[in-house]
Amino acid sequence: MLEVIHLSKSFGGFRAVSDVSFILRAGTITGLIGPNGAGKTTLFDTIAGRYRPTAGRISFLGQRIDGVAPHQIFREGLVRTFQIPRPFPAMTVLENVMLVPIEQAGERFWTNWIRRQTVRREELACRERAQEILAFMGLGALAGEFAANLSGGQQKLLELARVLMARPRLILLDEPGAGVNPTLLGTIMDKLKELNARGITFLVIEHNMDLIMTLCDPVLVMAQGKLLLEGTPAEVRCDTRVLDAYLGGVPT
Ligand code: ADP
Ligand code: MG
Repeated sequence: MLEVIHLSKSFGGFRAVSDVSFILRAGTITGLIGPNGAGKTTLFDTIAGRYRPTAGRISFLGQRIDGVAPHQIFREGLVRTFQIPRPFPAMTVLENVMLVPIEQAGERFWTNWIRRQTVRREELACRERAQEILAFMGLGALAGEFAANLSGGQQKLLELARVLMARPRLILLDEPGAGVNPTLLGTIMDKLKELNARGITFLVIEHNMDLIMTLCDPVLVMAQGKLLLEGTPAEVRCDTRVLDAYLGGVPT
């Protein structure tokens, strides 16, 4: 589904992502772990089109996407969530989900005048889809609430609801469990499992080892910009290089 080949991303002279290669198989939930500063978020930003790679190639469903604009990659079905959720706080939960830019006739200027009926129908369909997704995420009762009033965990669920509007094939999740209480973390894990069973592939950055060990296979480990290893959860847990990386050892 996704092919990352010899990918590097530098900031000035600093290589945040350094010669990283891996393949994501369709249908998997792949974990991505590594100490803070390892380059995980930068890797996501580069895959999702926020940064142009300094070197290397990225293919999604057989098409090159390095250098392609983020909104275009999003439309192709590759979406990401942020480590710190960014909802519009003064808008309701439902409005936040409906705002996601999916193809709608109403956004093309002329159709507003020529095809009012179509526009109204599409807006209704958009609202209906948003409501369905919110219900699925367990946020149905909060649809009319301002996003600012949601807890950290609920905002993570809202982020996921928003990207689901795009009918994604691959979702990059940046720390879905960070700052989330254990009950809500359980909900998030259940939703990931269910969405995966419905055919969505995931790449998940997470520090919560319980989530990684129960949901993810394979697991990728990054340290100091490099891909240290890839393995099953059990292999990764037992590998001394992983422990070294977390304790500040230099990968070889
Ligand atoms: P992780 O998500 O694994 O904690 P990041 O990808 O956020 O790691 O960061 C990797 C390294 O790149 C860090 O040393 C960070 O300071 C640096 N970095 C990240 N983004 C930028 C940026 N926009 N400009 C300069 N340095 C950056
Ligand atoms: Mg990060």
